[in-house]
Amino acid sequence: MTPASHDSWGRVRDRLRAEFGDATFNSWLKNIELEKIDNGHVSMTLPTRFLRDWVINNYANRIRQLWCTEDTKVQSIDIQVKPLDKKNGGTRKAIIGLGEVTAPFEAAKPVVAETASPQPSLMAPLDPRFTFENFVVGKSNELAHAAARRVSDAGDSVPFNPLYLYGGVGLGKTHLMHAIGHAIAANSPEKKVLYLSAEKFMYRFIRALRFKDTMNFKDQFRSVDVLMIDDVQFIAGKDSTQEEFFHTFNALVDQNHQIIISGDRSPTDLEGMEERMRSRLGWGLVADIHPTDYELRLGILQSKVEQAKITIESRILEFLAHRITSNVRELEGALNRVLAYSDLVGRSVTLESTQEVLRDLLRANDRRITIEEIQKRVAEHFNIRMSDMHSARRARAVARPRQVAMYLAKHLTTRSLPEIGRKFGGRDHTTVMHAVRKIDELCENDLSLSEDIELLKRMLED
Ligand code: ADP
Ligand code: MG
Repeated sequence: MTPASHDSWGRVRDRLRAEFGDATFNSWLKNIELEKIDNGHVSMTLPTRFLRDWVINNYANRIRQLWCTEDTKVQSIDIQVKPLDKKNGGTRKAIIGLGEVTAPFEAAKPVVAETASPQPSLMAPLDPRFTFENFVVGKSNELAHAAARRVSDAGDSVPFNPLYLYGGVGLGKTHLMHAIGHAIAANSPEKKVLYLSAEKFMYRFIRALRFKDTMNFKDQFRSVDVLMIDDVQFIAGKDSTQEEFFHTFNALVDQNHQIIISGDRSPTDLEGMEERMRSRLGWGLVADIHPTDYELRLGILQSKVEQAKITIESRILEFLAHRITSNVRELEGALNRVLAYSDLVGRSVTLESTQEVLRDLLRANDRRITIEEIQKRVAEHFNIRMSDMHSARRARAVARPRQVAMYLAKHLTTRSLPEIGRKFGGRDHTTVMHAVRKIDELCENDLSLSEDIELLKRMLED
């Protein structure tokens, strides 16, 4: 190969690193090697089929474009699998269900495609967006996140077996499992990782029974280094699948291979699951993911717009974080809807258009914090009487808390200013507006007041 083509490749690599960032580059692109350039055809290699499929599906177009700009003679490119012989003593383990055929980009298949082998691939595709880098950590998910990291970085040790992640829908269980899959594939490409939903596990099992192929099925599951089963609650009540899962589980635990399970409730609450299975699921580390708080929701929104390189007023993100409290999936959905709408009508996002576009969602998410609740909390907090919220007394000691309550009513409920005024002893809407402004102003310099307000918000939102 000419030195010039090495230079071109070096520049393509630099561009890739700059565009996708160090984390992505190191996980997926770093190991690409240039094999040869032949008649305008660039051949590159990656050490595992998994990496190769991943890169082809997610980065191929960009790589091709960059090559073509570097070298106008380049017409096509492909990436083949070339095991790192030294590291693995020549015998390469890869994610199971994958053969070793090479394919040009044109034939790119889903990340982990069904192969030509008669046994379909067991592995469900991992979502490229579900990485640790893209996971925003907050109080509600920090234990689950830390545990997922630990498992990913554990090398050959098994810190806890199983790791059981549970929490309500849309709170990041699947995201964390995929992130573990990505991280292990990047850190220890020699490990066999298998991720699939409990539903798919059942489907495969039934299929194996039907085709009298259970030996093969068992072998495949029991030969993995890391097994991840998502949404285990699905097999509750499915007796024979549960039985098979129990045996697989035990076989892997006996070999000290890592198991990661997710469910929508704690092991003890899994009805329809045999007692011995429930107790086994609770043997390792059980980490629950709680509903999000405001800070986390805002952090997630900020990270999404940053990734998408979109500019959007921060008060709109704050509005969404306040109002879409159900789960992260819905929060993302709301943001996407708002962005899609502004794209469609060709106008930038405003608070008004956001409210308009999300009307149904906002209604469903209404936390129904009442003004009475706010008044009660605030009165307790500042040690004044509830009746002072309605009274005409103007002494600072009661007027200020009253303003705080009005401020919170404006921010935490959907009530209009006149409605709020009425609930505060029939005050005028301009009084409410003045209170909101005043508190905003004071918060800028008065740290203890702004802390009080944060605290009250948090208590009211829980
Ligand atoms: P679950 O499996 O618990 O139902 P998912 O993992 O599918 O939830 O998460 C739903 C969506 O929310 C996904 O798009 C995921 O990327 C996103 N999400 C959840 N938690 C976070 C987080 N902490 N940071 C960033 N995105 C998140
Ligand atoms: Mg899920």
